[in-house]
Amino acid sequence: MNRIGCHLSTSKGLQKTIEQCLKINADTFQFFPRNPRGSKSRLIPRKEIEDFLELRNIYNINDIVCHGAYTMNLCSDREDLRKLAIRLINEDMKKIQDMNIDKYVLHPGNHKKQGIEKGLDMIIHGLNQIDVSNGQQICIETMSGKGTELGSDLKEIAFIVNNAKIPLYVCIDTCHLFSSGVKLDTFDEYLDEFDKLLGIDKIKVIHCNDSMMPFEGNKDRHEKFGKGLIGESDLLDVIFSERLKGRPIILETPNDLKGYKMEINDIRGKFNELQKNK
Ligand SMILES: [Zn+2]
Ligand SMILES: [Zn+2]
Repeated sequence: MNRIGCHLSTSKGLQKTIEQCLKINADTFQFFPRNPRGSKSRLIPRKEIEDFLELRNIYNINDIVCHGAYTMNLCSDREDLRKLAIRLINEDMKKIQDMNIDKYVLHPGNHKKQGIEKGLDMIIHGLNQIDVSNGQQICIETMSGKGTELGSDLKEIAFIVNNAKIPLYVCIDTCHLFSSGVKLDTFDEYLDEFDKLLGIDKIKVIHCNDSMMPFEGNKDRHEKFGKGLIGESDLLDVIFSERLKGRPIILETPNDLKGYKMEINDIRGKFNELQKNK
C-alpha cells in the first residue's frame, strides 16, 4: 500500500513528529515549514534536524511532504506580496533540502479580480524565480475554487505546469476535486484527462479528505474520512487506484491524533481486505 500519514504540528520539535507517526501507525506525514497563517518561521537548530534525519531512517518514515504557508500568493494584486511569496518559497526550498525532503505542496494563488489569465501568468513568472536545482518538487495543489482562487480547473493547473521553466508537479486533494466538480465515482475518467493534459506521473501527493460541502459547491471544508458527502467507497477508489501507486496519502481531516490513528488503521484494514479478495 502507498505510504499514509496525516498533517502534524512541529511546534514541539521535528523529532516529535516521528514519535507521533509511530503512535498512529503512519509511515509518512505532512507539516508546515513555517506558521501557515503568517510568514514567521522558527529557525530549526542544526542538532534538531540531525536528530530528525536519524530517527526518520531508523523508523523508515519517508516521502514526507512540506506544505507552503496559505498566506503566500504568487498572483497577489500587490507587488510586495508577490515578491514576499517568492522570497519565502525560496527560503522553504533551502529548508526542505536541509531536512532531506523533496515534496513541497503549494496553493496556486488568488488572482484578486485581476482575471484568470493575468493570475496564471503571474504564478508562472513567480515560479520561474524559484530555485529547485537540488531536486525539490513543487506540487501545485488542485483547489476548490472559492472566490478568485486558481487551480480548481485542471486546465489551469496544466497551464502552469506546462508553461513554467522549472519542473513542476501536482498534489490532488479529494475534497477540493469534489467541491470543484470532479466526479470521484468515475475517477478513472479524471485520470484519463489528467494523463492527456499533464501525464499521470506528475501526481506526486494525494490529500485524502472527505467534504462537508456539496459537489461543485466551490467551498473548502474538510470532513473526517467517510463521514462527508464523498463517502468511503469513492475515497478508497482514489487512494487505492493502481494508477497512483507509490504516492504518499496525507489525511487533513478534522481529527486529533487518536482520530487519525483510527482512520489510518481503518484504511490499512480496507486495503488488506481488498488484497485478500483479489
Ligand atoms: Zn493545501
Ligand atoms: Zn482544503
